[in-house]
Amino acid sequence: MLMGLPGAGKGTQAEKIVDQYNIPHISTGDIFRAAMKNNTPMGLEAKSYINKGELVPDEVTNGIVKERLAKDDVDNGYMLDGFPRNMAQAEALDQFGAELGKPLNCVINIHVDPESLMERLTGRYICRNCGATYHKIFNPTKVEGTCDRCGQHEFYQREDDKPETVKNRLEVNIKMNTPLLDFYKKQGILHEVDGNQDIDKVFADIKAVLDQIN
Ligand SMILES: [Zn+2]
Repeated sequence: MLMGLPGAGKGTQAEKIVDQYNIPHISTGDIFRAAMKNNTPMGLEAKSYINKGELVPDEVTNGIVKERLAKDDVDNGYMLDGFPRNMAQAEALDQFGAELGKPLNCVINIHVDPESLMERLTGRYICRNCGATYHKIFNPTKVEGTCDRCGQHEFYQREDDKPETVKNRLEVNIKMNTPLLDFYKKQGILHEVDGNQDIDKVFADIKAVLDQIN
């Protein structure tokens, strides 16, 4: 299972892991959509909540992941992404993972300190005139305060990229992840990887962890 706060590079590393190890990437968003499209029993149940505009209860989410883990293509391994999100889900996964003979045996947390994440996530700004997108750290304008494309000087930030919004999103995620990290640490299957390195170095560290458990 792959963990990491928003901006830590989880998506990029997830792609690299499934390429390298040729295992299914089980992301809750994707399997929800698939279960609902195929009208599986759990998919139908999830639909009934979503159609009412309600949150899908843990039992249903757990059921959908369990349905997915029961399939043959994960016999040689799988990567979970976005599940479990809370302790009830983590405990359910322990149970059905063992039942299916496919227990979770490794949790990788891509760690980046919240201050660096703030820099990464609040750095995007957009030219008000032509819509060109820049980033303070990764892709600044060549001349400060002047759009490379159109030469105008007015920029703005999306609501999602504003410090207030980002700070809030990080806090929510830290609160959600902390009990899970403790839980897996106690089980001895948590591995911390330093996410404040370039992409290939982060992946090399992840690979070192995974090769050791395989
Ligand atoms: Zn412009």
